[in-house]
Amino acid sequence: MSDKPKRIGAVKQITSHSNPLVKEIKGLVSQRKHRTQSGLFVAEGLKLVTDALEAGWVVRYLALGPEARENPIAQKAAATAKAQGALILEVNTAVMSAMTRKDNPQMVVGVYEQKLHQLEDIDPGTSSVWIALDRVRDPGNLGTIIRTADAVGASGVILIDDCTDPFAVETVRATMGSLFHVPVVKTGATQFKGLLKRWPGTVAGTHLEGSVDYREPEYGEPVLLVMGNEQQGLSDEMAAACKTLIRIPQAGQADSLNLAVATGICLYEIRRPHLKL
Ligand code: SAM
Repeated sequence: MSDKPKRIGAVKQITSHSNPLVKEIKGLVSQRKHRTQSGLFVAEGLKLVTDALEAGWVVRYLALGPEARENPIAQKAAATAKAQGALILEVNTAVMSAMTRKDNPQMVVGVYEQKLHQLEDIDPGTSSVWIALDRVRDPGNLGTIIRTADAVGASGVILIDDCTDPFAVETVRATMGSLFHVPVVKTGATQFKGLLKRWPGTVAGTHLEGSVDYREPEYGEPVLLVMGNEQQGLSDEMAAACKTLIRIPQAGQADSLNLAVATGICLYEIRRPHLKL
């Protein structure tokens, strides 16, 4: 049994922008520093809020705007959150707008505890494919990759070195709820190269100068697919550490593909034998 004292859920009405909870949520929406220090993050909208609850993520606050108080799904989410010990905040549209820094805010906003995994948690023996991202910078790309990882049945996403925040509002939104189902690991380049060396299956780095067409290899699982930074691609060291460098052929004048698009193309090829309608 857990030693943590059971939290007691409650309901609180908030009408003032200067309420400390409004300020706290605003900080979580807009500042990475605030999210890192508190270990919390914000998910906006009914789908994300209910996905997180169903997947068992720990909820601290659930803010309900006027519309949510008439909505049966939002009401059910509030009852679940309250039973789990969350504080339910009943707010007006102006307060919801201030909290989320949006003119047209969602009807419901949840504040959850962050959950990251360790490199040591990765078990190649039970893995399909892990996607490793070398210094991904764009929240939309990261969210889209997490969503695509979920769609193909990947085992998880590894963030190497200084990456964009997986718990930023834009990233969470772009995952469309897949963040709550796909394990995310954060690590440094040195530790990751250790994993590369002992990886028992296929290691495929992606590179614009890769000599192997991405459709050629037999991707024996478990696969480690390594993707580069949006501006600089893979670091030279990381490229050298990958056993094979694959490339997606291109026609036309584009220098390269968008990172999330390239990841999706490779993932569908790697997982092709396992994906059936
Ligand atoms: N200027 C960067 C470079 O020279 O690598 C472009 C990086 S690209 C926008 C971002 C990442 O997407 C690359 O590091 C690679 O992982 C992947 N990527 C994009 N186009 C690709 C292609 N045609 N073949 C293989 N990977 C590609």
